[in-house]
Amino acid sequence: MPRHTALESYPAIHHVHKTGWLRAAVLGANDGLISTSGLVVGMAATGADTRTLLVTAAAGLTAGAFSMAAGEYVSVSSQADSEKADRDTEQRELKEEPDLELLELIGIYQGRGLSLELATQVARELTAHNALNAHLRDELGLNERNTARPLQAALASAGAFIAGALAPILVVMLYGGPDLEVVLIAATLLVLGLLGALAAKLGGAPWRPGAARVLFWGALAMGASALIGRLFGASVGA
Ligand SMILES: [Zn+2]
Repeated sequence: MPRHTALESYPAIHHVHKTGWLRAAVLGANDGLISTSGLVVGMAATGADTRTLLVTAAAGLTAGAFSMAAGEYVSVSSQADSEKADRDTEQRELKEEPDLELLELIGIYQGRGLSLELATQVARELTAHNALNAHLRDELGLNERNTARPLQAALASAGAFIAGALAPILVVMLYGGPDLEVVLIAATLLVLGLLGALAAKLGGAPWRPGAARVLFWGALAMGASALIGRLFGASVGA
């Protein structure tokens, strides 16, 4: 594979590539953190003991991790299917109508600002070098680096979810004291804020809005869970 050094050293493009992976990982961790913490906070608000809280958290972690993996697998698989179909179509067209395909490529490079002369030369040389790759990349925007990998995506997203879910579990295990809900909510918001800021910073965006957004939704989720736990705990306990 030739290396596209000029393109890769361009910082904005670096950020775009990084945020794809990073965004998925941080979103998965946020999901695991918010949903498991919410579950445990809700249960803690009913006055459940530590054992019940740990069982709840473990069940939430397992169900969530599988749900993330399944969702990601299905969605990335359908993306992979359509990439495969595009590849097959392109391969067939190149075989059956190579002249039309060359014209198509010339048109694409002209549309990007090259003169007819240069576009023709570029299209000819790239077609001679690797016609299928040229079409996949420049006509369909596919390249090997962003090829859909369902199993990898499923494992990454389940792993990120589990990492996020471990935070509230550790809090329950390490802190057995009073006002567990409050400690849990505080710890969850702290980690959420850090994750949000980190994701924004690594993605090249300002960290404050990134942290604020995730904190807002996290606080909403914790508040709702605690409220539901209180209401149900009171009505079931009465
Ligand atoms: Zn084509």
